[in-house]
Amino acid sequence: MSTLEIRDLHVSVEADNGPVQILHGVNLTVSSGETHAIMGPNGSGKSTLAYALSGHPKYTVTSGTVTLDGEDLLDMSVDERARVGLFLAMQYPVEVPGVSVSNFLRTAKTAIDGEAPKLRTWVKDVKQAMADLRIDPEFAERDLNTGFSGGEKKRHEILQLELLQPKFAVLDETDSGLDIDALRIVSDGVNRFSANGDKGVLLITHYTRILRYIKPDHVHVFVGGKIAEEGGAELAEKLEEKGYVDYVGASA
Ligand code: ADP
Ligand code: MG
Ligand code: MG
Repeated sequence: MSTLEIRDLHVSVEADNGPVQILHGVNLTVSSGETHAIMGPNGSGKSTLAYALSGHPKYTVTSGTVTLDGEDLLDMSVDERARVGLFLAMQYPVEVPGVSVSNFLRTAKTAIDGEAPKLRTWVKDVKQAMADLRIDPEFAERDLNTGFSGGEKKRHEILQLELLQPKFAVLDETDSGLDIDALRIVSDGVNRFSANGDKGVLLITHYTRILRYIKPDHVHVFVGGKIAEEGGAELAEKLEEKGYVDYVGASA
């Protein structure tokens, strides 16, 4: 049983004309076995939270704490955070020309486990995970994300998730830009990941539609850099009906 604990988190971002405060005191606890949805309008700071958790250098934690099983996550480098079990699926996955998908996956797996995966089982695992996500096997030799469609990039984020098996997955708008078939494939992947009940998922989304396939235990409405309301899955249904208008007016 693992716990990711975010306490009174304040984060600023380095903009062109100096730092801007984006997060204003976020409190959130995710335990293994739980799926939390963070839902909020554009610009509310959802990606800022994801980046701050994973250690992006442009985002500065000005106060507050984040711990994983009691260990100070904010004190760790980006790769240390990955090694203790934190994974981020980015809203906009980065294209890396010159690095093949298979090379990237094996390097990441080796870095996280501290040893190279056994070749025979690894090749089999990669093939299986790619088949599950309906990714053409020839993508293994393509340059990472380079020239991939939006949907292909998102499926590759979930491919990493399945192969790296972190303790906590932060999925930043993994649903955006997906057609209905891809949405189902991606959702099935996330559900396979969390099926054993030993993983924590923080699902960041702008739309409610992915929550038809991935059932959250907790829903947090995120507005103006903090959580404005919390509830169960029923809160997502209310958002589906009414949108964010009730919150946006009050948050200025
Ligand atoms: P969301 O993911 O909810 O759409 P973001 O975290 O991307 O929100 O952005 C929150 C706010 O912070 C926005 O007003 C955005 O313009 C600003 N912001 C985020 N990152 C940067 C950055 N690197 N430089 C300047 N402003 C930023
Ligand atoms: Mg957004
Ligand atoms: Mg975002």
